[in-house]
Amino acid sequence: METNLWEKYSGDKRKPVEDFCANYKEFLSNCKTERECIRFAVQKADANGFVSLSKLMETNTPLKAGDKVYGINMDKSMVLMIIGKEPIENGINIVGAHIDSPRLDLKANPFYESQGFCMLDTHYYGGIKKYQWTAQPLALHGTIVRKDGSKENFVYGEGDEPVVGFTDLLPHLERDDKKDIKGEDLNLIAGNIAQTDAKKDKFKAFILEILKAKNITEDDFFSAEIEVVPAGKARDFGLDASMIMGYGHDDRVCAYTGLEALLQTENPQKSAMCILVDKEEIGSVGATGMHSKYFENCLAEIMNLAGQYSELALRRALNRSKMLSSDVTAAFDPNFPAPFNATTDAHFAKGISFNKFTGSHGKSGANDANPEFIAQLRNIMDNADVAFQATEMGRVDQGGGGTIAYIMAKYGMDVIDAGVPVLNMHAPWEIVSKVDVYEAFRAYKEFFLLKN
Ligand code: MN
Ligand code: MN
Repeated sequence: METNLWEKYSGDKRKPVEDFCANYKEFLSNCKTERECIRFAVQKADANGFVSLSKLMETNTPLKAGDKVYGINMDKSMVLMIIGKEPIENGINIVGAHIDSPRLDLKANPFYESQGFCMLDTHYYGGIKKYQWTAQPLALHGTIVRKDGSKENFVYGEGDEPVVGFTDLLPHLERDDKKDIKGEDLNLIAGNIAQTDAKKDKFKAFILEILKAKNITEDDFFSAEIEVVPAGKARDFGLDASMIMGYGHDDRVCAYTGLEALLQTENPQKSAMCILVDKEEIGSVGATGMHSKYFENCLAEIMNLAGQYSELALRRALNRSKMLSSDVTAAFDPNFPAPFNATTDAHFAKGISFNKFTGSHGKSGANDANPEFIAQLRNIMDNADVAFQATEMGRVDQGGGGTIAYIMAKYGMDVIDAGVPVLNMHAPWEIVSKVDVYEAFRAYKEFFLLKN
């Protein structure tokens, strides 16, 4: 522990790390929902010569080696691919990350009044420690779809705008500071002015009046996705500014680095793909989660336009692919060492973490990566001087976690978890090390060049 990656990136060598992380911080500050991440990725893809799959399908435009294409699934997940020189059935190098993060969602019928306040009811999403979300400035990021199909994407509570939040009791009235906050107690305070001419629900009426100016009604909240997220920007952390504190590093840090790595890849030998997927935090379920058939269908369509589709070729492509399930892992926390094993857990500023397996209690539920695949990865990382660490997540029998690795492994492809170590994981403000972010980006770039 005497030295770390900052030695490699000292002096002038720090500049590319800082430049990369400045762009990452801007992305993280602006993209706090799945839809916002997809809008960002589409913009970047368009600017880097990628073409929309659905447009190509409409015109039946053929794809050839070197072409770049992306498919969007319900505005919440995405597949980006560069067609390789080799046939697609030889397998694809895939980096896959999730773009959903723990948060709270507004309920489908969120408005009510209590004690002179207009309140908004929420239901949490993913694994959160509920107390961490109280007494925090929070913002609403979301999409409302009106009955006529028109959509309103909105952000409320960023910059100098008013924020919302969950309250917590003062210590004077509650001596037990380990209180277990109940999910049903997480109700946002939305307003406190009465609409004097309203007949009932005067406090609700005042807020609804504000929304009316934006052509939004109370009923529109049923056909909406509104996420309650920490308000404010990602910023440097530490007196040496060596780290970044921000909302949603899990797993947008791997999504951003994976996407950037693909955007900087040209004419790969094997096809290269970046998957940005939704719903990982709640089990990868639903039409936009990794369990969905979208990825497979999307690949079939791409192979079809490339003149390479057959059921067998598709099966072979899936089976022969290699994947980095790029997801964050827990970094050793000096304040809470108990659940960690210092020699086998991830540390800040040691590079990208490879978790051979995750799972819990005797590796249950784990994708256990093959040593043949790991040896290949060691080789390409060492040749490119990419720093990496071989890690687990916590002490044996302490707990554990899951990623999308096991879902992709079902196709018979080689998969390993590879991502950035995080402190405060799943808290409103998570922390990563800048050099680990940069090293993950470099690792993904090398991976896309893997030849067999
Ligand atoms: Mn994750
Ligand atoms: Mn997570």
